[in-house]
Amino acid sequence: MSITKDPDLLYADEGEEKNRIRAGTLYLVTTPIGNLSDLSERAKKVLAGVDFVAAEDTRNSAKLLALFGIKKPMVSYFEHNKRERGEVICDRLAAGESCALVTDAGMPGISDPGEDIVKLCAERGIPVTAVPGPCAAMTALTLSGLFTARFAFEGFLTTNRGERSKRLDELSSDDRTLIFYEAPHKLKTTLADLLEAFGDRKISLCRELTKLNEEIIRTTLGAAVRLYDEREPRGEYVLIVEGADSSKRQETAFWHDMTVGEHVEHYISSGMSKMDAVKACARDRGVPKNEIYREVNVGKPQR
Ligand code: SAM
Repeated sequence: MSITKDPDLLYADEGEEKNRIRAGTLYLVTTPIGNLSDLSERAKKVLAGVDFVAAEDTRNSAKLLALFGIKKPMVSYFEHNKRERGEVICDRLAAGESCALVTDAGMPGISDPGEDIVKLCAERGIPVTAVPGPCAAMTALTLSGLFTARFAFEGFLTTNRGERSKRLDELSSDDRTLIFYEAPHKLKTTLADLLEAFGDRKISLCRELTKLNEEIIRTTLGAAVRLYDEREPRGEYVLIVEGADSSKRQETAFWHDMTVGEHVEHYISSGMSKMDAVKACARDRGVPKNEIYREVNVGKPQR
């Protein structure tokens, strides 16, 4: 059967001219997040064809390239040298060299320094194009079993306590599915913080994606906190958290038929302080704390 080619698409067997590496262009090349077979044919061609590779970790990337028989001059480009090195890379691009940017894993620009060099290229009018592939966030979202139609990518939460709490407070009423990245040694704290800010929502913990020990734990925040009281987190995690959907959740919530006053009392009688009870009630109902204070007429606690 003969196939009619779509003139808008680029086919793998297209001539050298159409697929050639363009001078003076930065290629964002996505690398595997765990399964080396996920390095695309085009990624290999671009890595082999560019003048040089900028890598977050040159040793790591040299090993990856060596696996595919590719040897290329490399420069490092990472969080702590991105300012000066970004300028140097852009100077070389402006002089007509082509460069492939690779980060430790996944899609350059997603929670890694790739973002900055693209900004710099945009400012200097340097062409940037992408060789897309696996991204941990999107892979996890599609496996989560949660709503995928609307989502918000939050990446790593800040470790600054005040800023973290403020951000989580803002997110607590967001009805989109939320995506977080987390390192194993910080997972327990983050789960506890998410539970406190969001209440007991669904979460899918997506661990070691595309690797041998890939695991998707579909549970709730409360159960996840209990689970990791008993086991140590291992490997890389993406956390997919159900968004605030007050209408759906409220119908089945234990407090659905309670007045706001009864709801706050419920928490106080279970041992919470008045302030925490108001906070928990506001979180359950997806409304600001002040609204609850007003309703139960307890007033804001005085300092
Ligand atoms: N640019 C990457 C991407 O496209 O996903 C993300 C880089 S960010 C520095 C690294 C974080 O991504 C990890 O801490 C983890 O949260 C997540 N991650 C990367 N690979 C993963 C994997 N195989 N399984 C689960 N999470 C992963």
